[in-house]
Amino acid sequence: MNYKISHRAASLAPSLTLAIDSKAKQMKVEGLDVVGFGAGEPDFDTPQHIKDACAKALADGFTKYTPAAGIPELRQAIADKHKRENGLTYKPSQIIVSCGGKHSCYNVILATCQEGDEVIIPAPYWLSYPEMVKLAGAKPVILETSDQTEFKVTPAQLRAAITPRTRLFVLNSPSNPTGSVYTPDEIKALGDICVEKGVLIMSDEIYEHLLYDGAQHKSVASLSPAHLEHTIIVHGFAKAWSMTGWRLGWCAAPEPIAKAIDAVQSHSTSNPTSFAQKGAVAALTGPQDHLPRWLAEFSKRRTYAFNKLNAMPGISCVNAKGAFYLFPNIAKTGLKSAEFCAKLLEQEKVAAVPGIAFGADDYIRLSYATSMANIEKGLGRIENFCRGLKP
Ligand SMILES: *Cc1c(COP(=O)(O)O)cnc(C)c1O
Repeated sequence: MNYKISHRAASLAPSLTLAIDSKAKQMKVEGLDVVGFGAGEPDFDTPQHIKDACAKALADGFTKYTPAAGIPELRQAIADKHKRENGLTYKPSQIIVSCGGKHSCYNVILATCQEGDEVIIPAPYWLSYPEMVKLAGAKPVILETSDQTEFKVTPAQLRAAITPRTRLFVLNSPSNPTGSVYTPDEIKALGDICVEKGVLIMSDEIYEHLLYDGAQHKSVASLSPAHLEHTIIVHGFAKAWSMTGWRLGWCAAPEPIAKAIDAVQSHSTSNPTSFAQKGAVAALTGPQDHLPRWLAEFSKRRTYAFNKLNAMPGISCVNAKGAFYLFPNIAKTGLKSAEFCAKLLEQEKVAAVPGIAFGADDYIRLSYATSMANIEKGLGRIENFCRGLKP
């Protein structure tokens, strides 16, 4: 049978991370002692009161369809969060709860982009953005950055990339995979250009609460009413509440866009899981005391890994100001990222994600959302690997 794959699906890049990941898993099954730096999720458990609220909802029989855009209580709690923490005024009708932040991104892109549109994405990027843009029939326009600018695009770069076809600018601060955080002034410089040029901003703020060294998060939507009108915030419960498996995220958008996203969602997934939404209400309205503890632990690991990496031959690394990743430069080892990671796994049994998956082939991504013991062991092996490479 000659199966015909749609041009949309066929246009997607196969996941480069999958090959390494499945190899690492296979090695573990074979009983080998593999150290994984690939995790894209916190290694902490979801706080107990959140799980309790979900379990109670389930026990109470809260198991039926909800409105596609989420239960009113949760949309209100999200609107309250944006008021309290970001100084933003959203009506609950402007909040759409989806099956994960990833789903929210996809909904936003599908509701705003089509054939002929261009979407500006700074690299290194979260690997799903360009593929989502392609799925919508639009064209990703990638802006290269490097560790020289802490992986931040400059206003001049953004301005030069905007054309009459530009529909969306994707901003992700704090960033996956680099951990870099734009300062409020840098956010304003980019936001001003988008407002001037009439370009929408999809601001992925899922790592908002994971900040180090006094770094500050500024939502571009909060700069002025004009910025608010040009911004769609994407956010979620996965990272700051360690709820990756719950599949819950949201977007906050201008009313007409929220309506369009609601329509898209109502004909695809419908509502996110009913009882999970009750847990999410508890996440937003309950105590947040887990966060300082997690941040202290993340920051300790980050500092250790940062110092260790910079002492390795051929490796240099800028420090992350947010999220839970480091993105060391491996160019001086003479290896490209996929080869580096494949050999590292083969020789030292350490799994890392090649930067090429994020559009940056001179780097690898290391997640420090794993125990200090693993980090010490894994970095020791990476050091060994680097010492064994010919300069
Ligand atoms: C983790 C992540 C998301 C959302 O993840 P979900 O599990 O779908 O909520 C969105 N954007 C970035 C950059 C992420 O790293």
